[in-house]
Amino acid sequence: MVKIQFISNSLAKKHSCGMFHPESAQRIEVMEEWILSQIDDNIGYDTLDQPASMEEILVTHSPSHYQLIEKSQDQTGHFYFDGDTAANNYTFEAALQAVAVGKKAMWESNEKKSIFALVRPPGHHATRSSPGGFCIFNNIAVASELALQQKKYQRIAIIDFDHHFGNGTAYTLEKNPNILYVSTHASPKIAYPGCGFLDEVGEGEGRGYNIPIPLWYKASEADLQAAFEQLIIPIVFQFKPDFLAVSVGFDAYERDPIGVLGVTCEGFSMIGTFIHRISSELNIPFANFLEGGYNIQMLPDLLSSYISPLIHPDQEFPESSRPLEPDNQTLTTLNQSKEILSNYWEL
Ligand SMILES: [Zn+2]
Repeated sequence: MVKIQFISNSLAKKHSCGMFHPESAQRIEVMEEWILSQIDDNIGYDTLDQPASMEEILVTHSPSHYQLIEKSQDQTGHFYFDGDTAANNYTFEAALQAVAVGKKAMWESNEKKSIFALVRPPGHHATRSSPGGFCIFNNIAVASELALQQKKYQRIAIIDFDHHFGNGTAYTLEKNPNILYVSTHASPKIAYPGCGFLDEVGEGEGRGYNIPIPLWYKASEADLQAAFEQLIIPIVFQFKPDFLAVSVGFDAYERDPIGVLGVTCEGFSMIGTFIHRISSELNIPFANFLEGGYNIQMLPDLLSSYISPLIHPDQEFPESSRPLEPDNQTLTTLNQSKEILSNYWEL
């Protein structure tokens, strides 16, 4: 059993990508309202207004990336980096704070407390040299690289269950054998960012340490369960991390306005159960980093579904109403993936 300590950045609700943009301040507002109604010994909430330093950002990002974001704060209105990623005059500071919250999550999560970085902007699509996919700085990548550099941890496993492949995290860390990156996501053939194919398993010394698991339309918890049991659990246990960082995305939900997957509330509880199992069996702390999830009305339920098994691991959770058999397409994908990854892991 672990306490979930939510920490938001004080400018999370001031950053904006523009009117009618799905990555809106409302996402934080509805989750914050729910969290504040649940505060007890198991759930805490706090905000942080301290920014990360430039030196910390530059551990992961290029100086030109940093300068581009810094410059965006001088604009009036919105400054567009690409078709769907923008900044207003709060974004630079908000993004620095989001990284600082991520660092705190990495440093202060322990066996009794898991920090949930409830931050905007999200991070997993930001690469070393550019923002993208609603993301400005890569919160989880910066925190992980800082933790290794400062010898806080030796081996970090990142599990990313956002609907979209975390191309920023994957490519930033792809040469690093001390960070394992596992992602379940909608296939690049049908979804943004158009990468995260099975054979993108890392580069150089990091080959075998990127584990992309692309899923097809409407993939649900049955498919995720197979992915966890056949690939994720065996690989993470062989990797033996001393810390687990989770990119939490609620856009894999079946009624997400920009998603094509089919995960239900019960599915997010199942994911939470797997995260708890990894953390408790390996006896390592874990932290959560908010990425996507755009069904405003459902976000509190999805958040509650995910964290309940972390707080009450012995409780029974409602069985999924979905078929427990994974899709044939998923089984084919997992078999192909095992073939590629068996060069690096016992599967
Ligand atoms: Zn996403």
